[in-house]
Amino acid sequence: MLYPTPIAKLIDSYSKLPGIGIKTATRLAFYTIGMSDEDVNTFAKNLLSAKRELTYCSKCGNLTDEDPCAICEDETRDRSTILVVEDSRDVSAMENIQEYRGLYHVLQGLISPMNGIGPDDINLKSLISRLMDSEVTEVIVATNATADGEATAMYISRVLKPAGIKVTRLARGLAVGADIEYADELTLLRAIQNRTEL
Ligand SMILES: [Zn+2]
Repeated sequence: MLYPTPIAKLIDSYSKLPGIGIKTATRLAFYTIGMSDEDVNTFAKNLLSAKRELTYCSKCGNLTDEDPCAICEDETRDRSTILVVEDSRDVSAMENIQEYRGLYHVLQGLISPMNGIGPDDINLKSLISRLMDSEVTEVIVATNATADGEATAMYISRVLKPAGIKVTRLARGLAVGADIEYADELTLLRAIQNRTEL
């Protein structure tokens, strides 16, 4: 179907979002055109500011609007433990259950031998340098229970163990292939309480 260029461009933008097909993109584009000027302005501003104002914490790799992030800066947090996750959404999931009081390290990806993603392609080197001259005694690997999550956990364990750092993995309360981000709070709580040494 042929639409005036501005609508066609808007449909094109929406269709680039994950899980949005051309039909939904068209519906969203027409919905947007029907919105008030004020709502469209706010929407556009939010898109731009999310992109401009957010950065990754130089210490832990978490998504933040101030560097270092609020968690790294929080003096009340336990500095002897680092919980390693795939992305910032996992940090939110963990923070929601209010059980963990240590620090985080966000990998921004996972090692994936199948896809040719190695340790140098994710935010892993900075974890190792973070551990030099620090008071960290335990690293909890909380990557998802998928093949890539396991490969990443194994790699981290292999690298850190010789340095005398205890490496643990979330307990298997999480189903194989389960996403930490979507785990219910009780499952996540049990998984962290019953973590096992790698
Ligand atoms: Zn941080």
